Amino acid sequence: MRRSLKFLLRPTAKQAAALAVCLEDHRQLYNAALEHRRTAYHKAGVSVRYGDQSADLKHVRADDPRGQGRWSFSSQQATLRRLDKAFGAFFARVKAGRTPGFPRFKGRGRFDTVTWPKDGDGCRWDSQPEHPTATFVRLQGVGHVRVHRHRTVKGRVKTIAVKREGSRWFVVLSCDEVPAQPLPATGAAAGIDLGIASLVTTSGGGHLANPRHLAATADRLAAAQRDLARKKRGSTRRRKAVARVAALHATVRRQRLDHAHKAANALVAAYDVIVHEALKVANMTRSASGTLDAPGRGVAAKAGLNRSILDAGWGVFLTILSYKAESAGRELIAVEPRNTSRTCARCGHCAKENRLTQAAFRCTACGHAVHADVNAAINILRAGLALREAAKAA
Ligand SMILES: [Zn+2]
Repeated sequence: MRRSLKFLLRPTAKQAAALAVCLEDHRQLYNAALEHRRTAYHKAGVSVRYGDQSADLKHVRADDPRGQGRWSFSSQQATLRRLDKAFGAFFARVKAGRTPGFPRFKGRGRFDTVTWPKDGDGCRWDSQPEHPTATFVRLQGVGHVRVHRHRTVKGRVKTIAVKREGSRWFVVLSCDEVPAQPLPATGAAAGIDLGIASLVTTSGGGHLANPRHLAATADRLAAAQRDLARKKRGSTRRRKAVARVAALHATVRRQRLDHAHKAANALVAAYDVIVHEALKVANMTRSASGTLDAPGRGVAAKAGLNRSILDAGWGVFLTILSYKAESAGRELIAVEPRNTSRTCARCGHCAKENRLTQAAFRCTACGHAVHADVNAAINILRAGLALREAAKAA
């Protein structure tokens, strides 16, 4: 299996400065390579290839030994490949008859990652293994940077990337051959309903709530964004407000990830089979109508709802759940969410009137009253088990 792991870096002040310069030089390389391609394309109708630019890199480095020449050749090639990919996508869209935007220059703050495509080439994971208590990653031109390694790394480290988020630096490892760790069978199956008040509600009636601190950070983020909107362009205050918003975004992301990991661990430990709704999260956040049984909401409410949905981080959660399930040898089944929230789990009567409020379900045919999310989770479980039976029979 392939897994990626992300750790906080604890660079010294000098290393942090070097990381910033490293990132900036890679950004400039990206922009220079883009300029080269643009000019060739617009003036001569020629498309420059990755191979050409990679060959030029030797000269760029030789001419600028204390600038571009400081960094890893391979990380620079990875940056050129990233540009090549952007052009590949651009030409594919042109070919498909669309009129896509030309790949864009990356402004400061729009370029936050440097990748080393191979461990040992301009970078080294666990570069000081003899150190008794700390883990380091060596990056060419930066040095041995201390890593806050909050979990063990399994498998073989393949690529190493450094990412800036606000004022923090992270290292992202992509590992190959990560061994699976199957868990003992529990004999239990569950349907899960993904919601806003509770990230997960199980068919057994359990709720894994979204933590309050996540909502609190989201409120602070909304306030910081309003504050930012009032600042004058180009002012110092605006720059500070931008940094504040970025830091809060990073906090929300971290808290959401942490919560998603915990919720997924709890589910994978308890159930052999987990059934969830197949979600189109992008669609749901774009338009709140028709996805939740709450017609006639105003625009403001919809914006709040969108935020809540983003907060709940369903897509992130399902991704984490799917790799944990795979590693643990659990079965994860996705079902179409059709009518799961308006069908009675006891008698099967399907009507929109069954759903009294966001939380309350009462069947208009048989009078069955239950938490709406639990009712949905039971329907989801049934649909999943039916799919499973059908697949076995086929
Ligand atoms: Zn009923």
